[in-house]
Amino acid sequence: MTKKPPFLGGLFSSCFFVALLHEIILVMKKFQVITLFPEMFTGVFESSMMWKAQKDSIVELSTINLRDFGLGPRKQVDDTPYGGGDGMLLMIEPLWNAVLNAKENDPTAKILLMTPRGARWKQALAQEYSETDHGYIFICGRYEGYDERILELVDQEVSVGDYVLTGGELPAMTIVDSIVRLIPGVLGGESSAEIESFSDGETLEFPQYTRPLEFNNLVVPEVLLSGHHANIKSWREQQSRRT
Ligand code: SAM
Repeated sequence: MTKKPPFLGGLFSSCFFVALLHEIILVMKKFQVITLFPEMFTGVFESSMMWKAQKDSIVELSTINLRDFGLGPRKQVDDTPYGGGDGMLLMIEPLWNAVLNAKENDPTAKILLMTPRGARWKQALAQEYSETDHGYIFICGRYEGYDERILELVDQEVSVGDYVLTGGELPAMTIVDSIVRLIPGVLGGESSAEIESFSDGETLEFPQYTRPLEFNNLVVPEVLLSGHHANIKSWREQQSRRT
């Protein structure tokens, strides 16, 4: 039996390592959030599925502190609007430079601006965005908003609903979460995302129950205990609602 020379073994294992590294670099999706309040993301990015997706090297989640791009000794990021009006706007220079910085980290990333004026975020978009091979940069507005010229760099304006939040951080967290959990390998049971509400664009998931069988005189529907798969399937179909 011929033995492989030791240096060849080393060469093969380092090739394998390089290939693996390449695969990881290729697959890892980056989510960068530009915000004045990076601390808000700590709990969300370090818990549950978001934590797991990072641990498994499926995604890279990070924040960019807009304050680091502020102007002058006070690191100013906001100013009053031209034409008058209440409140402050995020200035163009700090925002612009923060976006360019994020782009340097991930040149193919798409830039999403959080704004009530944007397209309504939907499960279908979360699915679509989870399947792309590029990352995303989120811009979180604050105060009365931002200097409109930032739109020159933006690929899509996104809204989470017809209401006004104090800043774009909660929308960004919502959107990142809805995308990350759909990336293959993040959820344990891959089929669980397929039967979820809105997965076909309009159906809401059927009601579900777990132990105990009876609680405060509230009992689990008989059909779910029958073991009759066809009946269970048809009950679930009846119970699913259209939006
Ligand atoms: N003056 C703005 C208006 O009337 O549309 C609202 C500004 S809001 C107080 C500050 C920031 O929060 C916005 O620039 C945006 O980034 C974010 N924001 C608030 N509500 C949002 C929503 N429904 N969807 C996405 N982003 C939102």
